[in-house]
Amino acid sequence: MENDKSLEGSKTPKVSVLVRCKPVRRNQLLLRPVDVEKLVGEQHGVRAIWELVGQLDVEPFYAEIGALEGQAGRPVWDPKVLISLWIYAYKDGVSSAREIAGLCEYHPAYQWLTGMEVVNYHTLADFRVDHQQALDQLFTEVLGVLSHQGLITLKRVMHDGTKIKAAASDKSFRRKKTLEAHLKEAQEQVEVMGDPRSEQLSWRQAKARERAVREKCDRIKEALKELEQLEAVRSKELAKAEREGKKIELRASTTDPQARMMLGAKGSYGPGYNIQISTDAKAKIIVGVGVTQCSSDSGELEPGVKRIEENLGQKPEQMVVDAAYPTHQAIEAMAEKEIDLIGPLREARKAPWEDPLKRRGVGPEFYPEAFRYDPGTDHYTCPAQKLLSFETEERQKGWVRRRYRARLADCRSCPFQAQCCPKTKKGRSLVRMEKTTELAAFEAKMQTEQAKQIYKERAGVAEFPNAWIKEKFGLRQFRLRGVVKVGLESLWACLTYNVCQWTRLCWKPQRLAQA
Ligand code: SF4
Repeated sequence: MENDKSLEGSKTPKVSVLVRCKPVRRNQLLLRPVDVEKLVGEQHGVRAIWELVGQLDVEPFYAEIGALEGQAGRPVWDPKVLISLWIYAYKDGVSSAREIAGLCEYHPAYQWLTGMEVVNYHTLADFRVDHQQALDQLFTEVLGVLSHQGLITLKRVMHDGTKIKAAASDKSFRRKKTLEAHLKEAQEQVEVMGDPRSEQLSWRQAKARERAVREKCDRIKEALKELEQLEAVRSKELAKAEREGKKIELRASTTDPQARMMLGAKGSYGPGYNIQISTDAKAKIIVGVGVTQCSSDSGELEPGVKRIEENLGQKPEQMVVDAAYPTHQAIEAMAEKEIDLIGPLREARKAPWEDPLKRRGVGPEFYPEAFRYDPGTDHYTCPAQKLLSFETEERQKGWVRRRYRARLADCRSCPFQAQCCPKTKKGRSLVRMEKTTELAAFEAKMQTEQAKQIYKERAGVAEFPNAWIKEKFGLRQFRLRGVVKVGLESLWACLTYNVCQWTRLCWKPQRLAQA
């Protein structure tokens, strides 16, 4: 026992009697049979994943496999194994292909899935991003299973956005001038590289260095392209700032050019993506997931509904959202689709007529309140008892602008013209701002107790998957870069979340009943 190196450093307790402990011998090699099937218990979650994946139609994943029976070439890993590995890894909080490959060497659940073999990390990494359409279909397949189990009804869907950090740092964001200088520098580096064989470095090292510089060039070029797009999107804001003598300097990341600086939870600010998740209220199942580069959630409701329709072939009956979503366009779009929209009223929508009247030199005693409206005849009567008739109508941001006008002859002969319509060449006009039918109906509905009660349920459902993905899966930062790959990573995480719900609500109760 004194010679056993494995026990070096351990303290021997001082006791009055001589005790005899079992020695731990680590300096030995063992060869013993392993029953792979018994690596995990009957109730282990990895069995649930394998069982569910086995039920699904994963044909699109097989379509691109070149290794065929009866022909030369090595067999490839079964897509069902790779799908299960990725789902189990995300569930386990692992999003690195290298880490999964390492886990295959010793972790019983991973060993059970692969039959004690190790999957190369390149195979895993490529599989995660190479099958976008097939993955979309797989997500839909899982929704089909959950729907069949009665866990999705689409009677009430909560929609929300969550910001997840991009795989880039704040410091990687640079202004146009800096990007151009870096691009010039990198291009010069490529030019002076010359023949890799003439260098002191090995051919492999030189090639790797050349590839790294070329990739850097590509990323800077992409960042400059993104910057151009940003300038186009924010052109109005930039022009306004210029008029006011302010300077807004846009920046793009050289690490992940498609990431955007955005405001996150608790006032944090950094590079990230905005993930839009729709959750069915019945069993908190994710029925739609999308990614946007835009920090704001307004404008994301209609794409969210479209995704649900694509995934499940039918529209939701009711959408419940927070204050960022019910814009006038969203209210009208939901009304058109006959989807019941529940969300808080945004700030009071005021009719903006006071400022223009002031500019036109109209006295306050001739503001619209001084004119009497008769809904029966749809006419206004002015303070001089003359009629203003309906002229035109236009819709604008949830309002209908109805213009009424007095006869020019009446105004010209009126003693109040100087105060009422000093600059008009057509006769005094008056704009009646009426809320659109959809906006008025939405506002009236949101005053009801029933709508307020439904809205109270929103946070509990909508934020449940967000919290699960971030806390349980540990997905607080993406590993992949670019909108497409970030979208794929989000889809894997949401797919895993739904599989976890199926395991929790269907598979485990069934197993326990059988036991
Ligand atoms: S200026 Fe025209 S609209 Fe105004 S009070 Fe006189 S008649 Fe009426």
